[in-house]
Amino acid sequence: MVVGEFTTEVDVLVIGAGPGGYVAAIRAAQLGKNVVVVEKADVGGVCLNVGCIPSKAMIHAAHTYEHAQHTESMGITMENVKVDFAKVQEWKSGIVKQLTGGVSSLFKGHKIQVIPGEALFVSENEVRVFHGYDVNRYRFEHCIIATGSRPIELPAFPFGKRVLSSTEALSLTELPKSLVVIGGGYIGIELGTVFAKFGTQVTILEGSDQILPGFEPDMPRLVERKLKKLGVTIHTKALAQGMEETENGVVVTAEVKGEQKQIEAEYVLVTVGRRPNTDELGVRDIGMNLTDRGLIVVDKQGRTNIPNVYAIGDIVAGPALAHKASYEGKVAAEAIAGHPAEVDYKAIPAVVFCDPEIASVGINEKEAKEKGIDYIVGRFPFAANGRALSVNAGEGYVKLIGEKGTNLVLGAQIVGPEASNIIAEIGLAIEMGATLEDIELTIHAHPTLGEVTMEAAELALGHPIHVMK
Ligand SMILES: Cc1cc2nc3c(=O)[nH]c(=O)nc-3n(C[C@H](O)[C@H](O)[C@H](O)COP(=O)(O)OP(=O)(O)OC[C@H]3O[C@@H](n4cnc5c(N)ncnc54)[C@H](O)[C@@H]3O)c2cc1C
Repeated sequence: MVVGEFTTEVDVLVIGAGPGGYVAAIRAAQLGKNVVVVEKADVGGVCLNVGCIPSKAMIHAAHTYEHAQHTESMGITMENVKVDFAKVQEWKSGIVKQLTGGVSSLFKGHKIQVIPGEALFVSENEVRVFHGYDVNRYRFEHCIIATGSRPIELPAFPFGKRVLSSTEALSLTELPKSLVVIGGGYIGIELGTVFAKFGTQVTILEGSDQILPGFEPDMPRLVERKLKKLGVTIHTKALAQGMEETENGVVVTAEVKGEQKQIEAEYVLVTVGRRPNTDELGVRDIGMNLTDRGLIVVDKQGRTNIPNVYAIGDIVAGPALAHKASYEGKVAAEAIAGHPAEVDYKAIPAVVFCDPEIASVGINEKEAKEKGIDYIVGRFPFAANGRALSVNAGEGYVKLIGEKGTNLVLGAQIVGPEASNIIAEIGLAIEMGATLEDIELTIHAHPTLGEVTMEAAELALGHPIHVMK
């Protein structure tokens, strides 16, 4: 033991204050536990500081700028529309500050102590926390690990002055003139769209044969069309091989559909996925089971093979999403308090805040076929929705999938305006065991974008009002 090292006893120790950890801590405190949170960086984790929130603020700013420039069709002409990028950043940072301050207040309100520092397991019920020259020990009854993930670095593109991860891209103080984005997943597409809307010349290199590979091809196709309108060059089946730094930027070498290409740009943004932060925690040393990818193996309550230690969020299997982390955080806290809680992943929404927005929940047609489910589908276009046309956003569709016979709602895919919000209704429908008739017979306010789900349900049931069968 280091001289001056103190040991504190706690009921629940939470490591990491991201959307998984802080939610778990609050729920555990609500359930009467004495909770301590250890955080080595900023409260709010990736989501609030360098992920969901700042990226969505930038997306909104870029969208506003684009709209201000293109309102002639509505009879509005704006002259001299300018962007002050430093001010955009200031505005974004203000939102981050407000939200992280909110989490700190919630911690205070729930009497949760936050310890700055990096946690390292020394046994099944003790961690050491390193903070500068200080080292302290925390002995816990239960622990919830919520240490999240970090961007994957490509060996040929080490992060540095010209090669950015999403974190640095979100805090650039000047708009790049040109940018190569390696990786056409949701982070690359969202950030690529932001910069393209602000006027950066963007090139996207995606390894598979479509951008946003997880989604049905029809959905990214609409996004691709919009990106091309914004002047973005998209190369699919593209393998970024290497780069050379020049005085003002980089030259990226890539193999695109078997051909060699060289692309010059001011910066490269690498968004090829994220790696779980489990390698520097000492968990292997205490005998915890991890997968080959470094994910912690847990049961349906989030419990690891060490029964008093739980793991949640990006460090366990499943999509790396903030709402999944928070959900697992609540389940783990409740399990620790002895409640009969366990996860049920049949309705995790996935949203990409691209243009138009993409959202899905439950299963899609491909999955239904793979599972041998007999299903029916209603695919309703936004072009037949009055509200969509009156907000100048009539592109896209909602596709609703139900089980043939029972008409149980199984899933939905939406591409179009406010897809991110509309998808919530279908998530709830799946959770409630609702049928297509339930959605059809729910009175939806008119004129709203939300009416598309009702229309799609009618279509699936074979009696649509606003489109022909
Ligand atoms: C650019 C970007 C945009 C995104 N957009 C979305 C979105 O729109 N919607 C969505 O759902 N998700 C989005 N995500 C993903 C989302 O941010 C993550 O899934 C989510 O933050 C994971 O939460 P978490 O609690 O598991 O971990 P994190 O948020 O990563 O938090 C983990 C915390 O643990 C701390 N920590 C790590 N190791 C230690 C240690 N040893 N000791 C103490 N503290 C430690 C870290 O400092 C960090 O604060 C986005 C991510 C990025 C990068």
